Amino acid sequence: MSSDTNANSNANATVFQRKTGIILALDVTDEASALEITSEVSGLIDAVKIGYPLVLGTGLQIASKLSKYAPVIADFKVADIPNTDRLICEHVFKAGCAAIIVQGFTGPDSLTECVKTADEFGGKVFVVSEMSHPGGDHFFTDDVSKEIAALAKKSDAFGIVAPATRPERVKELRAVIGGDLKIISPGVGAQGGSAADTIKAGADWVIVGRSIYNAENPRDEAMKVKVEIEKLI
Ligand code: C5P
Repeated sequence: MSSDTNANSNANATVFQRKTGIILALDVTDEASALEITSEVSGLIDAVKIGYPLVLGTGLQIASKLSKYAPVIADFKVADIPNTDRLICEHVFKAGCAAIIVQGFTGPDSLTECVKTADEFGGKVFVVSEMSHPGGDHFFTDDVSKEIAALAKKSDAFGIVAPATRPERVKELRAVIGGDLKIISPGVGAQGGSAADTIKAGADWVIVGRSIYNAENPRDEAMKVKVEIEKLI
């Protein structure tokens, strides 16, 4: 290991495993709430996803603080030329994140650079294949999403992001990538998607944000999702 920071990110990558099937999307914007909510639900989530709202609100150093509770996924939907992608990925993994979410529409060279950089840190890459909101299928048409998913597989990404709001799409995208890649699916709860339907369609993890972090009791809410998923086994 060249530094403590690298040791931290590698350790995170090895613990990125499915236990409950829940990833918390932590889109609060202050550190105190972020740490409080994550500690409350720790043990019920397999990872915590942070993005621009929290990182712009608190700084990227929040990643190492959160990684004490769960592996951290940086949802920056990286979409640039390979050199810029590399620089972004380096910062993310040096900060202690276990995985990064990138766009796939930038093409094979950008995607390959992200995967290569992640590998250097023992990190993982998830590729957005389709967005989960109502307008998300405007440009990410069925064919485009499938092409991106296929490219993610060819580029040796760890997994793809597929919409829990359209479980039939999760199923189709699972057929494209086969069993080697993971699927993480946002859109459960506040956006109307169901955890059970999404897992049944082939997702490995559901990503849940507002319905947990805005709940009066986030732990109870996370527990409900955990039980819903457990019933499928
Ligand atoms: O609050 P909610 O459960 O809707 O949060 C969903 C999270 O997943 C948000 O952080 C959002 O940015 C993210 N996301 C999404 N759809 C995608 C990719 C990421 O909703 N396709």
